[in-house]
Amino acid sequence: MPDRHLANQNAFLRRITPAMVVVFFALVMTACILGVVVWKALEAKSAALSRGSTDIKNLAHSLAEHAAHTIQAADIAMGGMVDLLMYQSPLPERFNKYMADTVAALPQIREIGVLDTNGNWRYSSLPETPRYNNGDRPYFAYHRDTAGKALRISEMFQSRLTGRPTILLSKRVTKQDGSFGGVLTAAIDSDYFSSFYSAFQLGPDGGISLLRNDGAVLSRWPLSTRSADLSKTALFTTHLKASSVGYYKITSPFDGVVKYFGYEGTPQYPLIITVAMSEDWLLSAWSTALRTDALVATVLLCMIVLLAALLSAQFNFRIKTERALRQSESHYRLLADNIADVVILLNGRGTLRYVSHSVEQMLGVRPQDLVGKSCFDMVHAEDKQGLMAASARLNGSGAVSTAEFRTYRADGSIVWVESNFKQASERDNPAEAEFVGVLRDITERKRMEDELTLLNRRLTQLAATDGLTGLTNRRTFDGFLARQFEACEEISVLLFDIDNFKGYNDTYGHQAGDRCLQAVARAIGDATSNTSGLSARYGGEEFAVVLPNTSEDDALKVAESIRLTVRALGLPNTAANRGFVTISAGIATRTRATSGEAALVGEADVALYEAKRLGRNRSFVYSSPVLRYVEAGSIQHDPELAPAERKLAH
Ligand code: GH3
Ligand code: MG
Ligand code: MG
Repeated sequence: MPDRHLANQNAFLRRITPAMVVVFFALVMTACILGVVVWKALEAKSAALSRGSTDIKNLAHSLAEHAAHTIQAADIAMGGMVDLLMYQSPLPERFNKYMADTVAALPQIREIGVLDTNGNWRYSSLPETPRYNNGDRPYFAYHRDTAGKALRISEMFQSRLTGRPTILLSKRVTKQDGSFGGVLTAAIDSDYFSSFYSAFQLGPDGGISLLRNDGAVLSRWPLSTRSADLSKTALFTTHLKASSVGYYKITSPFDGVVKYFGYEGTPQYPLIITVAMSEDWLLSAWSTALRTDALVATVLLCMIVLLAALLSAQFNFRIKTERALRQSESHYRLLADNIADVVILLNGRGTLRYVSHSVEQMLGVRPQDLVGKSCFDMVHAEDKQGLMAASARLNGSGAVSTAEFRTYRADGSIVWVESNFKQASERDNPAEAEFVGVLRDITERKRMEDELTLLNRRLTQLAATDGLTGLTNRRTFDGFLARQFEACEEISVLLFDIDNFKGYNDTYGHQAGDRCLQAVARAIGDATSNTSGLSARYGGEEFAVVLPNTSEDDALKVAESIRLTVRALGLPNTAANRGFVTISAGIATRTRATSGEAALVGEADVALYEAKRLGRNRSFVYSSPVLRYVEAGSIQHDPELAPAERKLAH
């Protein structure tokens, strides 16, 4: 079971290619980078929004304080004036100046005035007291009908005096008896607030509004023609009911812009400040940073993809190359192991580096038993020299050397090997050079070659030898004579003929004749063995002897010696006069007059003829002009020889 598990695991691992690993890592790195970028972006966004919320709330608080203080300063000044008017009726010039001084001291106030009980101007901070009646204004009616010192803040309206949007602060002037004594008013330009608000950076969709707690807009920045009554908005219907300070997000119904709102009400006055900023504005710095991060991440991802592509291509290339290499190596191995020849790889010292499996078949040894050993160790002692000489010829890449040598099988028998060596690689250090060799078993071929050589030698011998006598035949004799005649100044030829041989054959039969021929041939052959001369069967029962560098006298001695030897054999021949087998000899020695080897033989033949004519069993010398026959010592021992035959012819 664990084995199967392991096998499954291995199969799975084999299916994973390096390219897949690269793609996997590229994906993981991409995911990591994207994850970090997104996580960082979300973190930064929430931080930016949180910072924006704090900024908006702080601003709303500060502006609420500002609005309250602005109104409060006027309220205090107006409180003093109302008290004064309760008890006194100051002269207009003096009170007008007092009011003008107050206006000058409080920049938010444009003008201060007092209306009498009918709504006509009684006092004014203006250089000239207006003359129109304001009895129709809502604030006039309000104070006339409402007792108390409370400050009233009007909604924004168009000033009759200046035509500018104005907020009017008003207080009731009460007489000592508590009756209505008129209205004290202080006008504030709505622009006083909006120009102050304009100094804040709120972005294109941001804004600040000063509202009365019933929804009336007192001032806002940027200036807008939108509704001046916000009592129906969520601020008044929901948020303010929950809390006087707040913060919330809305999507503008007008332009679809997402905005964050902060608001705060002033505790002393019915005023509310709202500050709005668009989400885009709050996140503008974040967006810029995000774009930079995205750019960096994109560059990184591109580099990862490029790197992954390069690595994959590199891996694919290496895998393909390795596969091709493995394939070609397996082909070579297949070839090396399956051909009958043995392929070997050697270094410069002759150490075997690789031996193909076919060596098992050739020598009966395993390749691993040879690797690491010297190739010369395998070689027959007599052939080592030749192989070393052949290896010495291998100088330079591409050089080829062939040698034949003997080696041993595992069982000790000898194998003839033909080797072809080639230098495969060249190195600076010759010992590191590599040689490849192909060894072929040529034992069988060698055996056949030896047989053929033997056969050829035998054939040559046969072609040169006379079959019956074993002497050199006529053809070889002719060749030998021609060569010696060419080479030697002094040369003699002897011709022998068996006497009365026809009769011998007739008497003893042809086979006995053959045996006789063999015996005579032996005697003639023995005479030239171990000399530079040559004995041959010239034809039938005729023999010839060539004696290089031999004088006529010496030749005669040789002829006589042979003749006597034959006689001494004592072979009976009843057909001959003397009752024994004898031979006659003709001797010719080269003289200046001898035209050629054929002429020399012709002369010997003439001499032989003379020997026959003179009675046989004798030697005759052809020496012109006198034909001599020699009276050798042996002649005395030959009583059969007639005295007349001892004479010199001619
Ligand atoms: P002469 O003394 O004049 O030489 O007389 P001869 O009888 O020897 O005459 P010749 O030389 O003419 O005779 C040659 C004979 O030798 C003829 C032939 O029968 C015999 N002869 C030749 N070759 C052979 C051979 O190979 N074997 C045998 N047995 N006889 C041969
Ligand atoms: Mg003859
Ligand atoms: Mg004869």
